[in-house]
Amino acid sequence: MNTVDYLRISLIDRCNFQCQYCMPEGTELDYILRQELLSHEELITLLKEVFIPIGFRKFRLTGGEPLLRPGVVDLVREIASLPQTQDLAMTTNAFLLAGMAQALYDAGLRRINISLDSLEPETFGKITGNQGHWRWQKTWEGIQAAYRVGFNPLKLNVVVIPGINDHEVLDLAALSIERCWHIRFIEFMPIGNAQLFGELSWVPSEQLRQQIRERWGLTESTVRGNGPADVFQIPGAQGTLGFISQMSECFCDRCNRMRLSADGWLRPCLLNETGQIDLKTALRNGVDTTDLREQVSQLLMIKSEINFKQRDSGTEGIYTRTMSQIGG
Ligand code: SAM
Ligand code: SF4
Repeated sequence: MNTVDYLRISLIDRCNFQCQYCMPEGTELDYILRQELLSHEELITLLKEVFIPIGFRKFRLTGGEPLLRPGVVDLVREIASLPQTQDLAMTTNAFLLAGMAQALYDAGLRRINISLDSLEPETFGKITGNQGHWRWQKTWEGIQAAYRVGFNPLKLNVVVIPGINDHEVLDLAALSIERCWHIRFIEFMPIGNAQLFGELSWVPSEQLRQQIRERWGLTESTVRGNGPADVFQIPGAQGTLGFISQMSECFCDRCNRMRLSADGWLRPCLLNETGQIDLKTALRNGVDTTDLREQVSQLLMIKSEINFKQRDSGTEGIYTRTMSQIGG
C-alpha cells in the first residue's frame, strides 16, 4: 500500500479570483463564516496530536486563496518550525504574493506553486473572471518576487482549456527553457456543479506532449516530485514540464495524500466524499485527540478502497463542493 504522509490544508474557501474552471459563473458559494474556520490553534493541535503522530510529514497550504487567510505568515512559521515537518509548500494565485513573498520565505516556506493559465493579460482576465490587465500584471509581479526571493522549485500550474488557452501551450512550456521554472499542465476536471461548466472541456496530456515534442523534442525527466505529475524536459532546458492527467489516466494507486478543508473536514479522496471526518466539530465537542488519531488511522486503512470506488463503479463522484472549497 502507498504511504500516505501528505496533507493538503485549505486555509480559507474564499478567493479573489473566480476562475472559470473552478468557480464557473452561477456558482453559489456559502462561504465559511470566520468562526467556523479551523482556528490556528486548532490546526496546530490537529497537526501535532493527530496527523504527525500517525506519520504525516508533508504539508501544502492551499484554498480558496491561502494568502487571504489572516495571519498566514504566522501559520507558515508555526508549521515550518514543527520538528517533524519535512516539506511545507503553498499553492497560490500570486495576486498578493509580491508584497508577501519575502515574509513567507523568512517564515520558512520554501516551495510554492503558482497558477498561471495564460501569458496574455486579456485571456488571463477572461479565465480568472476579470477583464482588467492589472490582474495579470500583479500575478506576474508575484511570480517575479517569488523567484527573486529564492523559492525553489518554483512551479507554475496551467489548466489547459480548449478554445481558451490551448493556443499558448508552447509559450508556457518555453518558460521552462531559460529559468529553472517547472511548468505543470493540469487536465481540467469538472468538480462542483458540472452543469455550470457548459462547453469547458479538457485536453489529454499526451496531446500537449506531442505538440511540445514536435517543436523541441521531449525527454522523460529523472526529477520526480511528491505528487502525481509525470515529469518531462525540453532537451537542454533549465526547468521541467509536468503533466497531471487525472482525466486521461488513473493515478489513484499512487495517491499519497488527504485533504483538510478550511472548516475542518478531513477528506480521503478528491473525487469522493466517502468517509469524511468532521475534525473541527469533534475537537470543539471535546473529543480527545487520541480518539481522533484512531479515527484518522482507520480512515487511512480504507483509503485505497475509497480512492478506487468512484472509478471502479463507473459512477460520478459526489461533488457537492467546488475545488476552491475542497482545497485543490
Ligand atoms: N487559489 C490557489 C490557486 O489557484 O493556485 C489555490 C487553490 S486552487 C483550487 C489549486 C489548484 O487547483 C490550482 O492550480 C487550480 O488551477 C487547480 N484547479 C482548480 N479547479 C480545477 C479543476 N476544475 N480542474 C483542474 N484543476 C483545477
Ligand atoms: Fe481561486 Fe484558485 Fe479557484 Fe482560481 S483556481 S478561483 S485562484 S481558488
